[in-house]
Amino acid sequence: MVSRETFFIETYGCEMNKSDSINIVLSLEASGFKQVKNEKEAHIIILNTCCVRRHAEERVFGRLGYYRSLKENGQENMIIVLVGCMAQLLGKKVTKLFPEVKVVAGTSHALKIPQYVMEYETTRQKQVFVDRDRYEFSSYGVKRAEKHSAWVNIIKGCSNFCSYCIVPFVRGPELSKPSDVIVREAKELSDKGVVEITLLGQNVNAYGRDTGDISFARLLEKLNKIDGLRWIRFLTSHPKDFDEDIIKSIASCEKVCPWIHLPIQSGSDRILNLMNRGYTLKHYMDVVGLLYKYIGDFSITTDIIVGFPTETEVDFQKTLDAIRAIEFDDAFTYMYSSRPHIRAEDLSDKVPHEVAQDRLTQLITLQREISLQKNKKELGKTVLGLIERVSKKNPQESLAKTEKAKPVVVVTDSKPGNFIEICIDDLSGATLRAHEVREACRV
Ligand code: SF4
Repeated sequence: MVSRETFFIETYGCEMNKSDSINIVLSLEASGFKQVKNEKEAHIIILNTCCVRRHAEERVFGRLGYYRSLKENGQENMIIVLVGCMAQLLGKKVTKLFPEVKVVAGTSHALKIPQYVMEYETTRQKQVFVDRDRYEFSSYGVKRAEKHSAWVNIIKGCSNFCSYCIVPFVRGPELSKPSDVIVREAKELSDKGVVEITLLGQNVNAYGRDTGDISFARLLEKLNKIDGLRWIRFLTSHPKDFDEDIIKSIASCEKVCPWIHLPIQSGSDRILNLMNRGYTLKHYMDVVGLLYKYIGDFSITTDIIVGFPTETEVDFQKTLDAIRAIEFDDAFTYMYSSRPHIRAEDLSDKVPHEVAQDRLTQLITLQREISLQKNKKELGKTVLGLIERVSKKNPQESLAKTEKAKPVVVVTDSKPGNFIEICIDDLSGATLRAHEVREACRV
């Protein structure tokens, strides 16, 4: 017999969604619900969804089909909750397609799931909330300190309207969290033993502009002064807003890690213009030049889309040339995905699927080779590593992460959350390996 207070959550999509799921879990636990690890032991099933690519949406539809079968085979009282971007996009429609979905909570309503579930239990009326006016940042900051690392949301939404992206439609415009709240949250996390924070937002570089609060550069400087905090990272940056002031601030703040995730998306100015990205390849290259000037040794990762409508072979070759020139440490590569609302859908000259697939394969092959070469340059370096977790395959080994966000396998008995000095001495396949020089800090 499944207890009515049990819930199971699955999360799709980006780090923002993963961070939102932590808040959803905390809000449910604060209301007396208990998380379980198996969907068959849960009364409430929560799907925190993504709709950025059609594939992500199809996976959720597949899961809803699965949960329908569980309901038909003994778990008939199960309450299915759809939350996040796909819930925002589809709203009531999803309850028609899948009558088993009893609660739909859009992107501004994730924290109210406990009350919606209780309301449904009392009234048996479906609960659908997708208006975007009442967004509130979670107040669970410090409770998120379960491990040595934590995400800190600093800005929600996006006001950029890149022509391929549905995010501004489902997450609404940019809204910055007050800087004093962020600094307090980071201090509390540090007091609880968190040594690494990652500042999160769709465009962190725009922080403060909507509210007139301090800029992103000043925020980094304030966070850099917090005792106990050792590493500060941030995701995601936008090349048009990533200015010299921010780069100087990264260079001067010793806790801000030299790892930049800076989506380039394309190497063709014509495509960048159609994407409404607001920068040219030259601008992007200038930003990279400034990173070399002020920071020197840093790692850079990116996002790239191939097969954007009208993309020609010439445009694609420009993207490959840009990748060769910049030498990204890693890249998240995607095929253009048709989505509702987005302006790119108005472009009639779509790239055939097999052409886009072939370009994606070429891109991945090239990037793998560059990533390998970049990793080879790490060999022989003695650096600080933060132990993330013990290896599942070999308990003598752990996975550590360097300041440059490079994953490294190291033989150590040091615990997750500890910093150790490591010498990177081997590359096995694409995996960096290191030996421990000394334990640098125990948390
Ligand atoms: S910056 Fe562009 S790609 Fe990123 S979330 Fe905003 S609209 Fe989407």
